[in-house]
Amino acid sequence: MYKMSSKPLISAKEIEERLDSLAAEIKPCGFDVVVPLLSGSFIFAADLCRRIASPELQVSFIRASSYGNSTQSSGQLQISGLEKLDIKGKKILLVDDILDTGITLSKVRETLKACGPSEIRTCVLLDKSARRTVEFNADFVGFSIENKFVVGYGLDYAENYRTYPEIWTLEEDYG
Ligand code: 5GP
Ligand code: MG
Repeated sequence: MYKMSSKPLISAKEIEERLDSLAAEIKPCGFDVVVPLLSGSFIFAADLCRRIASPELQVSFIRASSYGNSTQSSGQLQISGLEKLDIKGKKILLVDDILDTGITLSKVRETLKACGPSEIRTCVLLDKSARRTVEFNADFVGFSIENKFVVGYGLDYAENYRTYPEIWTLEEDYG
């Protein structure tokens, strides 16, 4: 059994402030399409997009699933939604909730490259660099965190906890 930590690892206010500064870095880059990875990045991507709003900025979702219902990656990655993606010749910002082993983003980036965009950059809310198994650096990182399993602000454990406005750590409950 797991339970949430007694206080958030990152508060809603800290997230909002970091989003403002992140958007200030990202907006001048003039991306054509934001590509969020569902489901984990849905809140982050929505909050970020509102801050880099421009008339011609498009948003196109894809889904990459690897986790199943556990805190350990299964190592299997399925990518869906590619058939609707129109990114040829465009400047893409790939957005994910958390960069952990790096397997997901490196595989998704390779897959998107095959669609012929002019440029792909990556943005993650959280970076757990201690867990990396493949070399991968995101171009934009919200927060670097320790090697703990986190939930909230879009991130789930077995589909639960996604709706919290803060980031929490999940701890084993021996009680
Ligand atoms: P990677 O392929 O980099 O190991 O894992 C990336 C994906 O694993 C993320 O998009 C996320 O779905 C999931 N993940 C990795 N660490 C965590 C974590 O601490 N909490 C949650 N909820 N998901 C995680
Ligand atoms: Mg994910």
